[in-house]
Amino acid sequence: MTRTVEIAPTFEDWQAAARTLLHDGVPPAEVRWRETARAEQPSLLTEPSAPPPRGGARVPRQFLDLARNAAAAADPARWQILYEVLWRLVHEDHELLEAEGDPTMRRLKSLAKREGEGAAQFVPPGAGLAELRAAAARCTGCELYRHATQTVFGRGPADARIVFVGEQPGDQEDRKGAPFVGPAGDVFDRAMTEVGLDRTRVYVTNAVKHFKFVEKGKRRIHQTPGMSELTACRPWLEAELALIKPGVLVCLGATAAHAVFGADFRLMKDRGRFAPTRWADKTIATLHPSAVLRGEDETQQARLYGILLEDLRLIAGV
Ligand code: SF4
Repeated sequence: MTRTVEIAPTFEDWQAAARTLLHDGVPPAEVRWRETARAEQPSLLTEPSAPPPRGGARVPRQFLDLARNAAAAADPARWQILYEVLWRLVHEDHELLEAEGDPTMRRLKSLAKREGEGAAQFVPPGAGLAELRAAAARCTGCELYRHATQTVFGRGPADARIVFVGEQPGDQEDRKGAPFVGPAGDVFDRAMTEVGLDRTRVYVTNAVKHFKFVEKGKRRIHQTPGMSELTACRPWLEAELALIKPGVLVCLGATAAHAVFGADFRLMKDRGRFAPTRWADKTIATLHPSAVLRGEDETQQARLYGILLEDLRLIAGV
């Protein structure tokens, strides 16, 4: 009899379910894995009244490391592969991890050998925004995920006419898991309101989805993402733009402008002008709202805010 196991797509949920299956002696051929969103997780194997058995079979730490990395991949077959390897490790071959020629082991290792190889492998083909967001939460495509709190994916309606792309989440965004909700977000909101743009009708995202910072005492100081991080993270932005197909694409700041227009783009010289790109007929760059906050004094901040307003007015008028 086949048992269907529903899990949220995380290593921890797979592990809890796999423990129960092992405990019940269910072989891999009798298991069908089905992913659910975390909120709708009705798993018969992880319900509170039936906690997974702890302890039981011991497996090498190397398997757990492989399993954790493989769990972050996008391939829906990974849960089955993981359980098959686990079952065979416990019941058939304790040396299985060393079996170079074993096709299932080769598949597991290729799923797991993914950290730092860019986001493309984590992007589920044909996914909607909700699925993309869930998949991005598991991305280990570059090392930024290691220290940040969480992936900060874009927010806004899938049919948004205008998409804003910033650089990366800041300290507050990293903690709250949403883009443009810190001090720069306040500037953005104020400017949007002043020019009559409704933030709830636009889509807001970043070129890099994890916060890059260095710690100084208790503070986390923003670091500009490098080209390698921009390149690694680009598949998420590409996927968002391919789905939304905005009429107007707005780059906030030099990093986003470089990601969209190329490295030659000079923000203060080239900002405030629409140009067609492959993502939107009308693509434009303006200041990042955080640039306003970095102005040396009130006069300079007011001047920078005026530039941001001027460009947003153009956008609101389209
Ligand atoms: S910054 Fe982008 S590529 Fe790097 S781990 Fe985060 S989501 Fe993945």
